[in-house]
Amino acid sequence: MSTPPTPQSPVRIIISGAAGRMGARLCALAHGDPALSLVGAVERRGAPCIGAPAAPGAVAITESGSFLAGFQAHAVIDFSSSDGALDAARLAQHLGAALLVGTTALTPETLAALRAASAHIPVLVAANTSAGVAAAAALTRTAAAILGPTFDCSIVEAHHNAKKDAPSGTALRLAEAAREGGGRLQDGNIVSIRGGDVIGEHTVRFAAAGEYLEITHRATSRDLFARGALAGATWLTRQKPGWWTMNDVLGLPAR
Ligand code: NAD
Repeated sequence: MSTPPTPQSPVRIIISGAAGRMGARLCALAHGDPALSLVGAVERRGAPCIGAPAAPGAVAITESGSFLAGFQAHAVIDFSSSDGALDAARLAQHLGAALLVGTTALTPETLAALRAASAHIPVLVAANTSAGVAAAAALTRTAAAILGPTFDCSIVEAHHNAKKDAPSGTALRLAEAAREGGGRLQDGNIVSIRGGDVIGEHTVRFAAAGEYLEITHRATSRDLFARGALAGATWLTRQKPGWWTMNDVLGLPAR
């Protein structure tokens, strides 16, 4: 395990998926934060950005899977792909660093590898790193428990036209929260809309005769997710090896 950060020393961070929509914001924010030090930025093999700075004046982007020999890092943050998350897990384990994975649509193989890694390092997998969505999930669970199965539950989510997965990881997280509360949500009642540059919108609706209740979260900036991931990773560096959630970071009940 690398030496843990002290209150005086910056948290040393590596970003995986560094040139992506999320990765670029993570690199820029980490590079600009005196409490953090961006010590590495990795991208998929053969990506045209390899060798370019991860942000103006920041470290150069290197290829995923190259083990950054001699590196010391406290945390690896991955917003890439399922394969990228696997590489990030190998890298974090090799360095003895904490691992926060924000990538969605992880394959069962990647999820199993992340679970295995959590025996050795702190691991946090979050389909959404915003406090607002954590609150929306908690509210959804509570509303489902109050309203019960006589209300029909549905989820509508909207994202930009380049998003690869549907439904979004956040929609699936909200569906899980509704079901945990005892809500009745049929599989066909999760609707995904793709278009334009929408960063992310989710509405959970409970409808019954004569009334409906809606819980809506709208993201207006990707920095929201990036800041949540950087704060989560910083928190994670102080934890024991294990499987952690954004609820743990935010001090919310696990369920
Ligand atoms: P993107 O396509 O813009 O960026 C992904 C980047 O990862 C690309 O630059 C790609 O080249 C790189 N990449 C792919 N395979 C890689 C590998 N093996 N190693 C290293 N880099 C690799 O996508 P995005 O919009 O930035 O989203 C990335 C992921 O984060 C998606 O799964 C998305 O759903 C998720 N996401 C999560 C949150 C959250 O709050 N947790 C918020 C937004 C997006």
